[in-house]
Amino acid sequence: MDHAKPPAASDGTAAAAELAHARDAAHVMPTYARRDPVFVRGQGSVLFDADGNTWLDFLSGLAVTSLGHAHPRVTAAIADQAATLVHTSNLFVTEPMLGLAERLAEITGWDDAKVFFANCGATANEAALKLARRHGKAIHPDKVRVVTLDRSFHGRTMATLEATGQPEKHGPFEPFMDVVDTVAHDDPPALKEAVTDDHCAVLLEVVQGEGGVRPLDPAVLAAARQACDDHDALLVVDEIQTGMGRLGEWFGWQTTEIVPDVITMAKALANGLPIGAVVAHGDAATVFGPGDHATTFGGNPVTAAAANAVIDTIRDERMLQAAAVRSHRLIDALEGLALRHDLVLGWRGRGLLLGIELAQPVAADVELAAEHAGLVVNAVGDALVRLAPPLTVSNAEIAAATSILSDALDHASQGA
Ligand SMILES: *Cc1c(COP(=O)(O)O)cnc(C)c1O
Repeated sequence: MDHAKPPAASDGTAAAAELAHARDAAHVMPTYARRDPVFVRGQGSVLFDADGNTWLDFLSGLAVTSLGHAHPRVTAAIADQAATLVHTSNLFVTEPMLGLAERLAEITGWDDAKVFFANCGATANEAALKLARRHGKAIHPDKVRVVTLDRSFHGRTMATLEATGQPEKHGPFEPFMDVVDTVAHDDPPALKEAVTDDHCAVLLEVVQGEGGVRPLDPAVLAAARQACDDHDALLVVDEIQTGMGRLGEWFGWQTTEIVPDVITMAKALANGLPIGAVVAHGDAATVFGPGDHATTFGGNPVTAAAANAVIDTIRDERMLQAAAVRSHRLIDALEGLALRHDLVLGWRGRGLLLGIELAQPVAADVELAAEHAGLVVNAVGDALVRLAPPLTVSNAEIAAATSILSDALDHASQGA
């Protein structure tokens, strides 16, 4: 298969895509800036439109389809479970959910882990924030505040938006609960000082994703851990983007020196089906009791079966190790781009969550030029291009993507 074949300019496809976008505009709320291609199929690292034009997918649907599109084991697990039992509600236990809770205890390495199943990232973080508040209020009634970091991203519900350190997203939705204190993402003393006895949690990502593919300094992570210990607050690590092998270990915190009390996960957990989970250990695992939190769909048998297949596949096919090797290959390629293009300052990130740092605010131009040449990546902010290929990406695909990126960078420099 010719992975990086530039999309042919077919009038039929263009007209069909135009119609799809008109229907989107007619009856879907315009909250998203949509991109042009209309994909109808995916296989591995490749997306197809209706005419069979192909794009290399180096974004994985925002770090979600980490095993590639239509992974046979995940597909089979979904199909089998869909034909067997789709939903019971949480009035009943089901086997896929039980198996997933056990697998999550195993891959965190926490024998005493307890899991709450949510439906996506934001609802996992909401659950973790409620858990932290329940923990705090059991100590004293004002222990309800949360420290988060500047440029963090934790979701779009009211509480997770307040906890998102990007004030430009807040404006039209204030007032919030006013329980969040946001500190710089690179200032360990300031972070330590910000956490007081009135705080029930510190919430952070070990590599900030939406905020710009920015790994936190080990000293910041250590300060967060220490401050939480000093003030009986929970360290909650948002692993929604960094979890499930994206950074070369099951979870991002496993690439650092810290151990959190609580983690949240979602995106890649079921390779594309909507799911979220909160995993706590130690005292944090005993905070929630009967009636404290609930959701109709959490732990749904089909999504849980997909997640079980994801975990088993990553384990059986040694994909963490493979992702680490592919990460080195991709970083070498990005260093090559930095040498050859004045527009590229360098790269940042970890594992297979990487960003190309640009010297000019032309990330959107690079994204578009790459898309026209058959590669999906995305601009995060003005001057960073995010890459999050599947863990299964091949060396040939990395080479093809690098060559498209090189042309896209030339194209963007000419426009700059
Ligand atoms: C995507 C993301 C979320 C929100 O997840 P949704 O499923 O979109 O609600 C929260 N935190 C991080 C770090 C994310 O990357």
